[in-house]
Amino acid sequence: MSIQELNSKFIEQYGESTEEARVFYAPGRVNLIGEHLDYNGGYVFPAALDFGTTLIVRPRSDSKVQFASTNFPYTASIDYSEIGKAKTGEWVDYPVGVLVELAKKNLPLSGGYDLLFHGEIPNGSGLSSSASIEVVTGYAFLSLLGGDTDTVEIALLSQRAENQYVGVNSGIMDQFAVANGKRDHAILLMCDTLEYSLVPFATGAYKLVIGNTNKKRGLVDSKYNERRSQCEEALAILKQEVPSLSYLAEMKPEQFELHQHKIADETVRRRARHVVEENQRVLDSVEVLKNNDLKQFGLFMNDSHVSLRDLYEVSCEELDVMVEEAQRIPGTLGSRMTGAGFGGCTVSLVHEDDVERFIREVGEAYKARTGLTGEFYVCGIGNGVEELEGVK
Ligand code: ADP
Ligand code: MG
Repeated sequence: MSIQELNSKFIEQYGESTEEARVFYAPGRVNLIGEHLDYNGGYVFPAALDFGTTLIVRPRSDSKVQFASTNFPYTASIDYSEIGKAKTGEWVDYPVGVLVELAKKNLPLSGGYDLLFHGEIPNGSGLSSSASIEVVTGYAFLSLLGGDTDTVEIALLSQRAENQYVGVNSGIMDQFAVANGKRDHAILLMCDTLEYSLVPFATGAYKLVIGNTNKKRGLVDSKYNERRSQCEEALAILKQEVPSLSYLAEMKPEQFELHQHKIADETVRRRARHVVEENQRVLDSVEVLKNNDLKQFGLFMNDSHVSLRDLYEVSCEELDVMVEEAQRIPGTLGSRMTGAGFGGCTVSLVHEDDVERFIREVGEAYKARTGLTGEFYVCGIGNGVEELEGVK
């Protein structure tokens, strides 16, 4: 939808006013490589997508804050002094949670606003529409209230809104990528310290194709906790050999080879090997991208999937089938599962001339082999949160 069209919807919803409406935007995100490393002191490597959530916001002359979305029929009208006092269990909890966090930073609302959100990100598909709506809200209100629009701070307060107000536990990667992404760049991020750098990643004639397995996840939390404790176990053993080690991902592969025999449990050893090698793959990816070697990056994506499947064992039949079928398409440089696993999405790097064929053939084979209907989203790498030119 163009900004003009969205603005017409805004006027339909709220009517005309002499106040100026401003337009803000935040993208969705995908993690390109570096899985299950965040809690092991390793890197993640996400990128902002080239589609996301747009917000039109306009001050009101009274004290109501009004919420509407083109994606949901539910609307809310809340007095600004009542913001955050009652959770609704509806989508408005996401932007309200952000306003609650802004108030904690001494930036409370002092008047009413009309808000209309428009999301192009499928909800609950692993592209982080939640981080997108949070970050666009945070950026918009910091801009309107004259606060500092520091995008790292916005990521942090958006994460707190999701963790504390909405009540969904999630790491910082999503909000960070959505807030700090840049067109044709991936983000090398250390989640603990928030140390990061933007790495040029011009996809050129290639597209990121995200495939949603639509597999219902079960028992993910317990498996996730099991992986975490296996990593802690491996770290405790390796620390006896290398006392300076504070995280598993700090270990270099050569160092790991020297000491890995100390880990008696074969499963724990495989978990640790994934962490060490996956972190090295992220660093190697940054190196090959310096020469824009997408071909080699694609091979690293494939290796990452094998490691997640065989060593870390967080893949599943559906993810494996989708990746296998994706890798059959001649224009595919690489394909892997992305996210925590046990379902969710794959990400593939595919030549634009083959994208149509990819979606058709991978979709058909996936359906035939799993009985499930996959969904595909074709993306480029776009900018992080920003203010857009409004309608004059
Ligand atoms: P994901 O982040 O993977 O897309 P989540 O379940 O974390 O899935 O977040 C999706 C929820 O975020 C939606 O159900 C809705 O409550 C909220 N949301 C995201 N985008 C919008 C939007 N454009 N308008 C209203 N609510 C939205
Ligand atoms: Mg989410």
